[in-house]
Amino acid sequence: MVLVLVAAMAIPVNSIFDTAAFAAKSGQSCTKTGMKTGSFICAVVKGKRIWRPVGRTAPAPVPSTTSNLRVTSDQTDTVSGFQIKPIYVVPSDGVDHSYDKNGYISSMLDEGNLFLNAQLGLTIPIDKNATGYDIQYLKSKYSTAFIQSAFPADGEGITEKLLAEINPFLNPGLNRKDFIFFVDVNGLNNGTACGTGQTPGLAAVVSIGKGFDATGQTCTGQSHNLSNFATHTWIHELFHNFGVNHTLNDPCDLMVGAETPGTCASSAKITIDKEHSRYAKSSVQGADVLQARVWTGQTDNLALAANCSIDPVPTADGTHYAYCPIGTQTIGAFIYCFNSFPLVTLEESVDGVWKPLGAGISSASPWGPRIDFTCAAGSQGPQIQLTNATPGSRLYRWTSIGQPVSDPFKIIWVR
Ligand SMILES: [Zn+2]
Repeated sequence: MVLVLVAAMAIPVNSIFDTAAFAAKSGQSCTKTGMKTGSFICAVVKGKRIWRPVGRTAPAPVPSTTSNLRVTSDQTDTVSGFQIKPIYVVPSDGVDHSYDKNGYISSMLDEGNLFLNAQLGLTIPIDKNATGYDIQYLKSKYSTAFIQSAFPADGEGITEKLLAEINPFLNPGLNRKDFIFFVDVNGLNNGTACGTGQTPGLAAVVSIGKGFDATGQTCTGQSHNLSNFATHTWIHELFHNFGVNHTLNDPCDLMVGAETPGTCASSAKITIDKEHSRYAKSSVQGADVLQARVWTGQTDNLALAANCSIDPVPTADGTHYAYCPIGTQTIGAFIYCFNSFPLVTLEESVDGVWKPLGAGISSASPWGPRIDFTCAAGSQGPQIQLTNATPGSRLYRWTSIGQPVSDPFKIIWVR
């Protein structure tokens, strides 16, 4: 009755020939016009390259220290609201290089925010504990060979398997997280990719091994204007999580994919939608990242977009749940679509008593257009706009004329 699909996209492996030092300094060929304080990018306008101010500016990020603690669970947050949760993954047969503790992953996180700030004037919040970035450690049950080959197929791949291994939704906390697995392998998808990310979604995998895979390629090291290609990869996969698809008309764009024509010269700079025509101030490529409720200082702005995820890790007992940012959300039902749509009411369990919240309407896409959950042709599911400003887990069900028409389901509301 229902079709649930999670798209996943890959980015190509960084060419080993792509390690020439980045020569051209930003702005070298730009005309300075009206430079003031703030962030500027070099943009092509009517065939001329000029400096133009970035729409929003944020303070330049201060490089952060890594925590030298090894932790296998999420520590008490010192950041509120949306944040990246970095996880260092060592395969079952892999060598532990302490990349969570020795600053290697931290250097990618820092460089990523410096890159975002230079390009967009924005930074992304990253999970921190009292001493630095809160990087979780996972010794995976999956082997190096398995991780390097188990790529998404029909929405199930290494991303979902690693997310299920840490299962953050058993103890989700109150802050919304996007989970990035920095995996100590030398490539993915049999040497054809360095990362993969749900599109849209809340998890991504980045290959950070310093070696070469069987095809002689590496996912790390200097690449264009970034000191580590893994920095490019994690930002790229994160933008997939935000709903952005690949760029097809600029091989030097952050969102370049294997299907993108042309190659980016090693002397050229990687940019983030520099014309603001794709996914920054535009949504033609799937989503406008500037409208996402994810940026430092903006994560409590409920006017910005933030979507639920449904069953991000399936439960052992088959019950269903959604992971939803607070604010107003489109809430549907799980597995229930009706050929003849009845009158339905959403109820919430309050102190063990079911209380009606309002009548549902019928929709072929009960969870809204941003979530891939579609009823079979000719059937429709219940849908309601639900507003909740308080983080925490709550229990709901759909009823019709006093009788339940769905099993109870949980919504994990997060900031
Ligand atoms: Zn991609």
